[in-house]
Amino acid sequence: VVIANWKMNYDFHETTSFIRNFLKIVFEKKINHNKEIIIAPSFPFLHISNQISQGTTLNIAAQNIHQKEKGPYTGEVSASMLKSIGVQKVILGHSERREFFFEKNNVLLKKIKIALKYGLNIIFCVGESYLERSNDQQFEIIKDQLKKTVFDCSSDEIKSFYIAYEPIWAIGTGKTATFEQAQTMHEFIRSLLLEKYGERISNRIPILYGGSINDFNAKDLFYQKDIDGGLVGTSSMELKKFLKIIQS
Ligand code: 13P
Repeated sequence: VVIANWKMNYDFHETTSFIRNFLKIVFEKKINHNKEIIIAPSFPFLHISNQISQGTTLNIAAQNIHQKEKGPYTGEVSASMLKSIGVQKVILGHSERREFFFEKNNVLLKKIKIALKYGLNIIFCVGESYLERSNDQQFEIIKDQLKKTVFDCSSDEIKSFYIAYEPIWAIGTGKTATFEQAQTMHEFIRSLLLEKYGERISNRIPILYGGSINDFNAKDLFYQKDIDGGLVGTSSMELKKFLKIIQS
């Protein structure tokens, strides 16, 4: 699975022309790949992006939803609104949402529940800070984040998830986790899934790595046993690099 998270970048023209060019290359079979590809543009362009990619293998995801179903929450977007324009996936728990919009685990759990209610697939992000890793707390931090959010879900609900491990110190910094560091954490997450949901489910949930993935390091990362793909920021915004990552 390769997911492009465009964050608060790209206007209407940039979004639509990227997706059109991407689809043209994939359609003309100029690249070979066996991956599930998802692009997460900004809210205003979800509808058009979804229309352009209709009938193709490209999927479109939103970057956030509000935790309430509807109501007086000026400026917010609900799960049902996304559903009404055919969007089927949403990113939740990104460290930028946790840091700049103060989204705590209890709010994220509400967002999870509303997303599930509307049948959205959830790309759920977890990650530790630089300080937490320096103190060797990364495993307890990730376990705690998962325990208070994703692990509240039933065996049936968990099937709607992708889990993305994004160490905060690797996001947008050019400092990728080594493939050993990433694999060790992914193996740990898989073991937590196994403990909670059993073998069949734990093997089925994609665990993605995110944090300074580029066209050079993607291959080594994706080669690891428990790394099922990537959540890509900066390098997903250049078509050539994005295509190379997909082929990695
Ligand atoms: P970068 O690839 O720019 O480090 O961003 C990663 C990310 O936050 C994806 O969600």
